[in-house]
Amino acid sequence: MSDAAVTSTDILIELLPQKAKPKAGKLFINGEFVDSLSGKTFATHNPATGDLLANIAEAGAADVDLAVRAARTAFEDGSPWRKMSPRDRARILWKLGELIRTNLEEIAELETLDTGKPIFESAKFDIPQAADCFEYYAGWPTKITGDTIPTTQGGDALVYTLREPIGVCGQIIPWNFPLQMLAWKVAPALACGNTIVLKPAEQTPLTALRFAELTVEAGLPPGVFNVVTGFGPTTGAAMVEHPGIDKIAFTGSVEVGKEIMRVASKTLKRVSLELGGKSPNIVLADADLETAAKYALGGIFFNQGEMCTAGSRIFIEERGYDEFMSVLRGRAAKMVAGDPLHPKTRLGALISEEHLNRVLSYVSIGKQEGATVATGGERIGTKGYFMKPAVLEGVTNSMRVAQEEIFGPVASVIKFADVEEAVREANNSQFGLAAAIWTRDIKKAHQIAKRVKAGTVWINTISTTDNGVPFGGYKSSGFGRELGKAAIDLYTETKTVWVDLNG
Ligand code: NAP
Ligand code: MG
Repeated sequence: MSDAAVTSTDILIELLPQKAKPKAGKLFINGEFVDSLSGKTFATHNPATGDLLANIAEAGAADVDLAVRAARTAFEDGSPWRKMSPRDRARILWKLGELIRTNLEEIAELETLDTGKPIFESAKFDIPQAADCFEYYAGWPTKITGDTIPTTQGGDALVYTLREPIGVCGQIIPWNFPLQMLAWKVAPALACGNTIVLKPAEQTPLTALRFAELTVEAGLPPGVFNVVTGFGPTTGAAMVEHPGIDKIAFTGSVEVGKEIMRVASKTLKRVSLELGGKSPNIVLADADLETAAKYALGGIFFNQGEMCTAGSRIFIEERGYDEFMSVLRGRAAKMVAGDPLHPKTRLGALISEEHLNRVLSYVSIGKQEGATVATGGERIGTKGYFMKPAVLEGVTNSMRVAQEEIFGPVASVIKFADVEEAVREANNSQFGLAAAIWTRDIKKAHQIAKRVKAGTVWINTISTTDNGVPFGGYKSSGFGRELGKAAIDLYTETKTVWVDLNG
C-alpha cells in the first residue's frame, strides 16, 4: 500500500491497481466489459488532490435496457442461475467474500483513491465488512423456507408458502461507503436468487467495477450481476422507469428517494429506501462522560461525517455539560486531516469541492443562527477537499444546523435540562435513522430507547452495525430493513400454494 503523499495525475493513474485500469471505461453487462453505446465517458476524481483518476463509461437508457435484458434472461426459468441449487448459490456468495479478502489491499486502495476516506478505514472497516456481508449471506440460500399453514378446511386442504426471488433488482447506491453499500444490496439479492442491475454513485464507481471482475472469477453466471455507471438523472432514472426492473433498492438523499417512489409508482415496482439522518446522540449526566465524549467524536467524524447514521445532534444534559465538552472540544481540536493513503491518517478528504462548500456553508449558517464555533469549521489548504472538523455549541434543536442533514464533519451540540426534553427534541426531526443514549442507569436507557423514533438505538455505544442485524429508518429516513434476516423479506415474494385434498 502506498503511503507517500500523492501529487500528480500520472502518479495517481499509476497507483490505480493494475487490474482495474483497463476496465474503468467500460460497463459490465452480461458478464463482459463493454463500451457504452454512445461512447460517452465522465471523469472520476481523487478528492484528496482533485486529480483525474479514470474515465468512466456513461450508460444511457439504451445501455440500461441491455443490462436489464441480460438480467431478465439470466432470471428466466431454465437459466443456469435459476437451475442452480441453493447450496451452489451459497458457494458463489462465499467465494465472493473470499475474493474480496484475497484482494483486500488493492480494493481498499481503490476505495480510498475514489472516496478520499482514510486507508485505515477502507482496509480495516469498509472492505472487510463488505467481505463479511457476502460470507453472512452465504449462509442464507439453504435456509430460505416457507410455512405450512392450517386453515378452516382442516385436513381437507394443504396450504403452504414458497419464498421466491422478486426478479430483476435495480440497485442505486451512494458514494460514502461504495463497496459496503454494494455488499448490503447485492449479497442478500443474490442469496434469494434475484438478478441485478447496479448503479454506483458517479463519484465512486471504481470498486463496483472491480467487484464485477470478481463475480466472473467466482463463477456467477453471465447476466446475474450487471453494472451501469453514469449519472442519477439519466442512468438512475432510466432504471427507475424501466418496466423490466421489478424492484428498486436505493440508498441516498431524501429528495431522490421521493422522486424514485414517484416514478416507480408508474410501474408499481417494489421500492426500498435507505435515506438520510440527523441522529440524536443523547448523553445523560450520569454517563461515563469521558467515554461518551470519545465515542461522540467517532459518531460524528468517522468517514469525515459523511455517514447517514452520523450522531450529528449531540444532546448533553446541563449538569454534565462542562466535563463532557472539555473532552469533546479538546479532542476535536486535535483531529487533523491528512493524506488518505497514509496509514496513520484518521480524517480524510470530503467527496468533492461542491460538497465541501456545502458543508462549510452550514458552519456559516450555524453562526448566523446564533451558534458558536468551538473548534474547526475551516477549509484546509486549496488542494483536495479537506476541512477541520467543526463543533458548534449553543445550538437549539429548531436551528437549521440541527434539522438539516449536513453529511460532513459538523457536530451540533444541544443542552437539555431533563429526559423529557431530550426525548421530545430528539424526536423533533423529520428523520429517524438512528439514535444513541449514554447513561449508567440501564432502566432509564431502555425507557428512552422505547420512546425514541429511530430504526436503530445504541446504548452506551454508537455507530456499530453488523451484517446480521437489521438496519433502516423511521419517518423520512426511509423504509424497509436491510441486513440480517430482514433483507430476505426485501428480496423475496411470498407465494401461497393451496391444494384441495377433498375426495
Ligand atoms: P443522492 O444524490 O441521493 O444519490 C444517491 C444515488 O442516487 C446516486 O447513485 C445517484 O446518482 C442516484 N440518483 C440521483 N438522482 C437520481 C434519480 N433521479 N433517479 C435515480 N437515481 C438517482 O445522494 P448522494 O448525494 O450520492 O449521497 C448522500 C445522501 O445519501 C445523504 O443524504 C445521505 O444521508 C444518504 N445516505 C443514506 C444512507 C442510508 O443508509 N440511509 C447511506 C448513505 C447515504 P449520482 O451519483 O449520479 O448523483
Ligand atoms: Mg449525488
